[in-house]
Order: sequence, then structure tokens, then C-alpha cells
Amino acid sequence: MGIHIPDSLVKVLLEARKIGVLTGAGISAESGIPTFRGSGGLWEGYPVEKVATVEGFVEDPELVWRFYDERRKNIARAKPNRAHIALAEMEKHYDMWVITQNIDGLHLEAGSKNVIEMHGNIWRVRCTSCDYRGENREVPLGEIPPRCPKCNSILRPDVVWFGEPVYGVEKAFQVARESDVFFVIGTSAQVHPAASLPYIAKDYGATVVEVNIEKTPVSIIADYVLLGRATEVLDSLLRRLREAWR
Ligand code: NAD
Ligand code: ZN
Repeated sequence: MGIHIPDSLVKVLLEARKIGVLTGAGISAESGIPTFRGSGGLWEGYPVEKVATVEGFVEDPELVWRFYDERRKNIARAKPNRAHIALAEMEKHYDMWVITQNIDGLHLEAGSKNVIEMHGNIWRVRCTSCDYRGENREVPLGEIPPRCPKCNSILRPDVVWFGEPVYGVEKAFQVARESDVFFVIGTSAQVHPAASLPYIAKDYGATVVEVNIEKTPVSIIADYVLLGRATEVLDSLLRRLREAWR
């Protein structure tokens, strides 16, 4: 049983040296963290422009922090799933980077070392006035909105909101250019610049492998489209690789 992994893909992976992986909300869905798509412009019940923009935050920091407090409660309960763990295992065999749009920190928790969190991390905070940055793992938050330990201004979540520049973009593009194989896992690949990465990888000669429960715009350029849940697909893939690594 399991997902069929073509022999030709196994061969490509056994010859590969550098691997890039782009992940989105879909890889964390099986950890119990809801994805965003298909929610009719609502993010867990909140209008996106209120809770994921600087304007929304300036207007009502308390509402935004209450929203993030709820998400933090949910993410605190979530554990890395077999897909996160499979990627951490693969990193031991390859020169590999995971580029994620997720803010849940589950790749790091699963043991991946080379992780670019393009949209930040929900456990980090930064000051809206001074240069303070730090970690805050309080669940639930003791004070809403939380205050800066240096200057007492309001802290914000260190996550990237709509219209803000993403983290690690240079490195992410470099990974896309240099990868022999580029995986796209659990992302609808519609938010740029992350969405351009599979196309760049393809242009620079990578074998592009998509893993998703349904087809996406990336499917057209992907060399392999493995339809199924991320845990099932990566389980099947890793089973094939382990046989060969033995
Ligand atoms: P998205 O919600 O737009 O798309 C999720 C994709 O995952 C879809 O293509 C869907 O078909 C696929 N999917 C769902 N379940 C799957 C499974 N079990 N296995 C494989 N694929 C599955 O997510 P996105 O592309 O990451 O973009 C949404 C934005 O929302 C991102 O910017 C991200 O920062 C943010 N977000 C993050 C989290 C998180 O940190 N876990 C959760 C929700 C949203
Ligand atoms: Zn400060």
C-alpha cells in the first residue's frame, strides 16, 4: 500500500546532492493546524485585513493579539507529523534546505537544521518602537498586548503580514537556483515571492516534485506530481530511499 513513487524519481533522488523544499500550510494540516485556503477570506473566523496587516494592527493591536493568542494555543498543542520528520531525516543525506511559509516552527521542532522561515515565527516577538527582538512562549499570554522589556512599547508578533518583505529571500532564491531536486509540499503556491521559487528551480534545471492533495498552478511545470497527504507521500518516498540507502 501507500503512494506509488515512480522508479525514475527514486533514481533522480539517489543521484541528487542538493535538495530544496518549499512548504506551506498543507504540511502542518495533519498536525491539526488549519490551512488558510477555502475559508472565504476569513482566517480562522477573522477578516484577513484586520489580523494580518500593519494597518489592522495599528487600528486594534488587542484584537490582533487575541487572534494570535488563539493560534498560539492551537500550535502549542500541535506536534511535528511524519512529513516534517521525514524531511529532517532526509537532511542527514543531502545538502538540503527547507524554505517554509509556515510560522508554526514545526520544521525546527522536527529536527530540520537548515530552515528558512520566510514568514517569521509565531513564538518570536519584536518591538514596534525600538530594535528589541525576542522569544515569547507564554500560552496564554499574560498581558495583551505584550510590552517591550526595553522600552515598554507594544510588541508585535515577528510574523510577516501582507505587504511586508519576507525573510531570507536571497538565500531562498539561491537554494532554488542550486537545487538538483526541488520539492513543493502543501502549498497553493499563490503568495509571492515564495510562489516563484518552483519556477526558478525549474529554469535552473532542478527536477520539480509537487506533493499536494490536489493539483495547483505548480502542477503544470512539475516533473512529478504526487497526489496525496504529505505524511503518506513522504512515508512512501522515504521507504523507497531507505531501501536504497541501506
Ligand atoms: P494555503 O492554505 O493557501 O494552501 C494549503 C495547501 O495545502 C493547499 O494547496 C492544499 O491543497 C494543501 N493541503 C492541505 N492538506 C494537505 C495535506 N494533508 N497534505 C498535502 N497538502 C495538503 O497555504 P499556503 O500556500 O502556505 O499559503 C497561505 C499563507 O498562510 C502562508 O503565507 C502562511 O504563512 C499562512 N499560514 C500558515 C500556517 C502555519 O503556519 N501552519 C497555517 C495557515 C496559514
Ligand atoms: Zn522596545
